[in-house]
Amino acid sequence: MPVSAYMNACLHDPEHGYYATRPGIGRDFITAPEISQVFGEMLGLWALHEWQALGSPERFSLVEAGAGRGTMMDDMMRAVRQANGGQGFDVAINEASPVYSAAQKERLSDLHPSFLGAFQSIGEAPFILIANEWLDCLPARQFVQSDGDWHEKVVGLDDQGDLAIGIATDKANAPAFEMRDGATSFEVQPALETLVDVLKDAFSVVPGRALFIDYGVSEGAPGDTLRAFQRGLQVGPLALPGSSDLTVDVDFGRLRRLAEKAGLSVHGPVEQGPFLMGLGVEARMHALIRANQGRAEEIYKGVTRLVDPAEMGRRFKVICLSAPGLAAPVGF
Ligand code: SAH
Repeated sequence: MPVSAYMNACLHDPEHGYYATRPGIGRDFITAPEISQVFGEMLGLWALHEWQALGSPERFSLVEAGAGRGTMMDDMMRAVRQANGGQGFDVAINEASPVYSAAQKERLSDLHPSFLGAFQSIGEAPFILIANEWLDCLPARQFVQSDGDWHEKVVGLDDQGDLAIGIATDKANAPAFEMRDGATSFEVQPALETLVDVLKDAFSVVPGRALFIDYGVSEGAPGDTLRAFQRGLQVGPLALPGSSDLTVDVDFGRLRRLAEKAGLSVHGPVEQGPFLMGLGVEARMHALIRANQGRAEEIYKGVTRLVDPAEMGRRFKVICLSAPGLAAPVGF
């Protein structure tokens, strides 16, 4: 099977899939909203600002894709409610995992979130979509060049019956994808096209924005970034199918070009550190420390981890895709 089908099965198989059966956030890997509440709070204020910039529409959805434990939505909406009482904000979630959906329902019960299937219902009202560490788990196809032709990388069984990565004998029509000059390997997430199509359709009816935060590169994507993690340690991508998290780096340059081609208004990618600093994360951190002196060090360390270029501040990028013609959002 292509690497993308392997990734999809490992993550989403209803019986054995990693996300479908094993909520591993906080055990196998840790994410920004789980590191500091300030992360979700800043994004909540960002969303509030952009809702106001849209003219404070009465019907409006704050949508999150891949909401994990629901922590970020909880933090975002707490900040929104403190600022404006939450008026106008309907909360919606797109989540593939039944285990996480159950956790989100419980955590966010007072917000009465609606659960969107495959995004069908975005676009009924102006919306802001936010997703953290969601793009990186969309399956990737991988190609390598051999003897002048491109072939797709596949996962199968070797002579011993163990999982192994091989190369499909059929020639791939990979050149249909944009190829870097001289590259001999290539990785692509086909779902980025689908995502841009969905946003384009929605933005042809209503205004809105979609903000994505994830690790990846702005230009010059490497040809193979597939990695697996279990209990905070990197393991081989074939070692623990279904019980390790599988992930790739997001090719933000490609996402930007796809969105520009579709006529969307694109801002970023920018680095997470400067983005959060620009939104005033330091002031929020100091206010939180003043109100919780006993937790000063923990709060400081958490925020530092998010913004420090040596930690998450540079490797994580933020990109905003907006309805055609919308001006730059705050933070870009
Ligand atoms: N945003 C959260 C969780 C990140 S983990 C955080 O920052 O903590 C990735 C999340 O995306 C999980 O909730 C996972 O179940 C969900 N997910 C993965 N693939 C998805 C898909 N194709 N559609 C919807 N949700 C998906």
